[in-house]
Amino acid sequence: MHVLILGGTTEARRLADQLAADPALRVTSSLAGRVDRPRLPAGEVRIGGFGGPAGLAAWLRAHRVAALLDATHPFAETMSRNAALAAAGTGTPLLALRRPSWQPVDGDRWHPVPDLAAAAAALPALGTRVFLTTGRQGIAAFAHLDGLWFLARSVEPPTAPMPAATEVLLERGPFTLDGERALLRAHRVEVLVTKDSGSAATAPKLTAARELGLPVVVVQRPPAPEGVRTAPDVAGAVDWLRALRT
Ligand code: NAP
Repeated sequence: MHVLILGGTTEARRLADQLAADPALRVTSSLAGRVDRPRLPAGEVRIGGFGGPAGLAAWLRAHRVAALLDATHPFAETMSRNAALAAAGTGTPLLALRRPSWQPVDGDRWHPVPDLAAAAAALPALGTRVFLTTGRQGIAAFAHLDGLWFLARSVEPPTAPMPAATEVLLERGPFTLDGERALLRAHRVEVLVTKDSGSAATAPKLTAARELGLPVVVVQRPPAPEGVRTAPDVAGAVDWLRALRT
C-alpha cells in the first residue's frame, strides 16, 4: 500500500518514521524544497512542487497512491487546497493532520489578527522593538515599517524586501523557555509576532512573552479546505490509516 505524506513539519517526519517501519507500507514523503538541508524522514522522499492540483492528481495515479496524508504546516494553504482537490478528483482517501491552535491563558496579552498585513498594521501601536517569527516568506509584509526595529528569526535567510532595521537570526526549533526568555531580554523586545502554528517546538516564546508582560500579535490560521477529515496528531493519523486498511 503506497502512502503519500505531504510534509514540511515535525509531525510529518514523525509520521513517516512511524509508518516506514511497517513493511506492508510503501511511504513517500513530499517536501516543497524551500529548505536547503531539510531533516529527511524515513522512507522515500521526493522534493518540489507537483504542478498544481492536476499535477498532484497525476502523481497519485501514476504512483498508485492508496492514501494521502496532508501533514503540511497549517499556513500551507495552497498545498492543502490542492490536496483536497486532487484527492476528490482521483478518489484517493485523504486525511489532514492538523495540530490544534494555541490557546491563550491568564496573563497573555494576545492580539489576534487575520493575516500578516493586519499584523504589520497593528505593530506601531504596540512597540518599537519587534521579534518577528513568521518565517522568511512573511518578512516582506513588514518591509514598509521604517520606524521599527526587527529581530527576524527564520530557518533560511530571508530575501528582500525586509524592514530597513532588521537583524536576522538563523535558527531552527525546537526552542527552550530559558533560551527564549534570554533572547527577549537581550534584545529588549517589546512585542512578538507569530503565526498560530500550534507547534510545541515553538511555543516557549509565548510563555516567555507572558512572563515579561509583552504583547503578542497572533496571526490566525487560514481556513482549511472544507469537508476534509482531520486528526490532531500523529497517533490519530496512524489510527485513520489502520482503519482504512481493515
Ligand atoms: P503553500 O503556499 O501552501 O504551497 C505553494 C506551493 O508549494 C504548492 O502549490 C506546491 O506547488 C508547493 N508545495 C507546498 N508544500 C509542498 C509539499 N509538501 N510537497 C510538494 N510541493 C509542495 O506552501 P508554503 O506555505 O510555501 O509551505 C511550503 C512548505 O513549507 C510546506 O511543505 C509546509 O509544510 C512547510 N512549512 C510552511 C510554513 C508556513 O508558515 N507556511 C511553516 C513551516 C513549514 P505545486 O502547486 O507546484 O504542487
